[in-house]
Amino acid sequence: MNYARFLTAVSAARKPSPIRVLTELQQRSPPTMISLAAGAPNPDTFPFESASIKVRNGPAVTFDEKAMKRALQYSASSGIPELLTWMKNLQKNLHNPPTANYSPGNGQMDMCVTTGSQEGLCKVFEMLVNPGDNVLLDAPTYSGTLAALQPLGCNLISVASDQHGIIPAALKEVLSQWEPSEVQKPGSTAPKVLYVIPNGGNPTGASMTTQRKKEVYKLARQYDMLIIEDDPYYFMQFDKPWVPSFLSMDVDGRIIRTDSFSKILSSGLRLGFVTGPKPLVERVVLHIQASTMHTSTFTQLLVSQLLHSWGQDGFLQHVDGVVEFYRKQRDTMLTSADRWLKDVAEWHAPSAGMFLWIKLKDIADTQQLIMEKALEKEVLLVPGCVFTIDSTEPSSYVRAAFSLSSPEQIDEAFRRLSLLIKEAL
Ligand code: PMP
Ligand code: PLP
Repeated sequence: MNYARFLTAVSAARKPSPIRVLTELQQRSPPTMISLAAGAPNPDTFPFESASIKVRNGPAVTFDEKAMKRALQYSASSGIPELLTWMKNLQKNLHNPPTANYSPGNGQMDMCVTTGSQEGLCKVFEMLVNPGDNVLLDAPTYSGTLAALQPLGCNLISVASDQHGIIPAALKEVLSQWEPSEVQKPGSTAPKVLYVIPNGGNPTGASMTTQRKKEVYKLARQYDMLIIEDDPYYFMQFDKPWVPSFLSMDVDGRIIRTDSFSKILSSGLRLGFVTGPKPLVERVVLHIQASTMHTSTFTQLLVSQLLHSWGQDGFLQHVDGVVEFYRKQRDTMLTSADRWLKDVAEWHAPSAGMFLWIKLKDIADTQQLIMEKALEKEVLLVPGCVFTIDSTEPSSYVRAAFSLSSPEQIDEAFRRLSLLIKEAL
């Protein structure tokens, strides 16, 4: 793979921050090293001394004074070593990527910690997308992705999709206007990047099948594209076995995968991971050096201690519990949807994630209904237009999240929505 051809001028121009390099060197040095180098403040002046955080069904995570000093201090931009090691082992066990070799020096793949997967995504887009570039995705898509991509001035091309995500034949059709042998030539307008949410899509709830992923990967090879696999709902797949990821099929090193702990450990702690080819992860880390410097050391140590005390089995057991919860919530929402919306709307049962994507049969544009009338009736939903490439384009869909409300609230919300729809007709 020639990664240079994928980089924007801004990303290619990033250089290591000399002080960050010294900070990381200092952290790997023996205690006998006297460092007058790094501009680290003295944690003895910080007001926080120690901490103990209760964990549901397990021992507390504790920070004695020494651990607390570390937690309050600057740390490496790629992430604290013990958390990265734990995550690399997890990725290897879950995805076993064909190119997986993280060893320093000769590894082809790498990982870094990000402040939520949104930060990783935003930095990946800024690394790869130039003004005027054609970028492929299946709209409607996550509004945070649109917010990060649209200001880059690229041309977003939507590939048709259904409840199983991107339709390979539709992708093939879009790509057929370019000649595979020409795409690597300078000046080619062929898309270099495809963005996908493979499981429990936001907002559509769509999940890709193994077969579709294989076909999409094959097209990516043919047209030398990178695939950004944004998979925050991977751990929220309701049915076992979980569907193999793009990363697990990546024989070339063309997958950049973003993972998130937001839905399984905490959304507010802000913890995500980028996994991908070493030369690309390196560019993301250089961007982190120049922006946030690193994800909160406290956050990373807290989560790392928990993960090490759980082990992989304990972690996956916790994930099972999360999946059980969301599966019940989904079933509750489907029951209420059947009760109240059957005549006026249609939907597909999602097999992952936390969203039901509802098409209102006789309402061409849900914007006004949801943003004005629904507010009066005290029910909050998201109108479909929020997720379209052109937000002025009418959408007959609404997104309902089954994550936070009780069964009674979900049922009452759909009763109110059904009344609203009937009044609007
Ligand atoms: N600006 C200046 C002038 C600095 O010296 C530093 C930290 N050394 C920063 C910004 C970054 O600070 P922060 O740790 O709050 O990101
Ligand atoms: N990608 C998708 C598809 C999402 O739905 C979300 C959150 O809603 C994110 C990324 C951002 O997740 P994080 O909290 O890890 O930044």
